[in-house]
Amino acid sequence: MNVAIYLRKSRADENNPNETLEKHKEILLDYANENALAVIDIYEEVVSGGMLYNRFEMLKLLDNIPKGLYDAVLCIDLDRLGRGSAADSERIFDVLKKYNIKIITLKKVYDLNNEYDEDYSEFEMFMARKELKFITRRMNRGRVKSINDGCFVSGAPFGYRNAVINRRHTLEIYEPEAKYVRMIFDMYVNQNQGLTAISRCLESLGVTSKKGTPLNRSTISRILKNHTYIGKIVWNKSKTVKGQKSQVKTDKSSWLYIDGLHKPIVSVEIFNRAQELIKRGRKPPLNHGELKNPLAGLVKCANCGKTMVTNTSAETTERYRLICRTLSCNKSSALSIVENKIFEDIEKELSQLEIAVQQNHDKDISGKKAVRQELINNITRELKRLDTQESRLYDLFEQGIYDDNLFSKRSKSINERKNQLKAALSAARKKINAEANSDAEHEIPLFLDIIKNYNRLTPREKNTVLKNIIDHIEYRRSKTAHRDDIYLKIHYK
Ligand SMILES: [Zn+2]
Repeated sequence: MNVAIYLRKSRADENNPNETLEKHKEILLDYANENALAVIDIYEEVVSGGMLYNRFEMLKLLDNIPKGLYDAVLCIDLDRLGRGSAADSERIFDVLKKYNIKIITLKKVYDLNNEYDEDYSEFEMFMARKELKFITRRMNRGRVKSINDGCFVSGAPFGYRNAVINRRHTLEIYEPEAKYVRMIFDMYVNQNQGLTAISRCLESLGVTSKKGTPLNRSTISRILKNHTYIGKIVWNKSKTVKGQKSQVKTDKSSWLYIDGLHKPIVSVEIFNRAQELIKRGRKPPLNHGELKNPLAGLVKCANCGKTMVTNTSAETTERYRLICRTLSCNKSSALSIVENKIFEDIEKELSQLEIAVQQNHDKDISGKKAVRQELINNITRELKRLDTQESRLYDLFEQGIYDDNLFSKRSKSINERKNQLKAALSAARKKINAEANSDAEHEIPLFLDIIKNYNRLTPREKNTVLKNIIDHIEYRRSKTAHRDDIYLKIHYK
């Protein structure tokens, strides 16, 4: 019998990368060989289009069938041929029927001119389409259910990473980004900064989105409105409307807020404050009046408690001085000296933090490694045990104690278990490597970026980032003090 092989991926194969067309081809060639079928042509659909008009190989096959080259079409299963619209399947089957071409699958040979077979094949085709619909529906249902469980099923927003915890899809806080989310809320709510000012400040700190682009005004605005940051999941933001291809936005009143499994990055209080400010359409103060004092609002006189000011009317920045407004209170100092001292203190704070983080990190890694090593040992032991069990199984089979059926059942279950264990083993090994390489620096907060970029910042930006890490600074200097003799006590947040 002369046959044409037809190969095409099905939707079910997408979840299983091992199901390649190459493998299918091998199986079918073997089948042809065993069943004395002469393979005349192989049609291999490279593009997995659903509709007939973009299934070029099928169209070619349908063109060649009337030439009488083949007696049958050989394929993995019936729905490789069909599975498009009902009209498409019908057209294919009509051609096969007209030229009396049989369909050979691994399961069955279909003769479309045999009445029983035709019913059967049509039924199966119908089932295949039904099944597809069912799968799609089940997938959507699964999605809704996991969202109701607090899972996070889309791409992680800035500040988070997608993670699977206890087999559930959720988010984990990604500190290198999360610290900027907190900074954005703080700048907007507590420091009265507008979107443009925040965006500029982040840009000068070299902060980018996950895609590597700067965080512009609209991104910042979206971050401020995103309920994910308080641990919520918003559902029902859009819906499918019959007859319309794309999803339609729904009214805010029908949005659903569900408690997510993930941890919040900002507090509900600051988030709600931000929403109020957005709703009020607050116009942030225009930052045209150039801020010249990077320490504005930060330094308090230890004597009288007033906030220290700067004589920004001085001609050059070198002449700026930090002054207490109370007459004959603490002695003033050159602004640059105070700023340098503060900067040195931040550096010191950072290096202590770095040491602490590194130590923690090392401890953490060695602890985790021990646990994983234990797991690896256990799996290896179990694999050895299964090997022994398997060889005993062969003995029992050879001795005739196990029959074919029992043997293949047992052997299958042992192999399944072995595969599971092997997968777990390679996962554990991968994790050990990943953890050893994970960067301790990631855990160092805002400080590092400020140190790296401080000198590039404008006074206003310096002021903003300092306010992010420092609550206030106490200042004291006696009348007779030497130029450098300034007492500063920095209260970090
Ligand atoms: Zn004072």
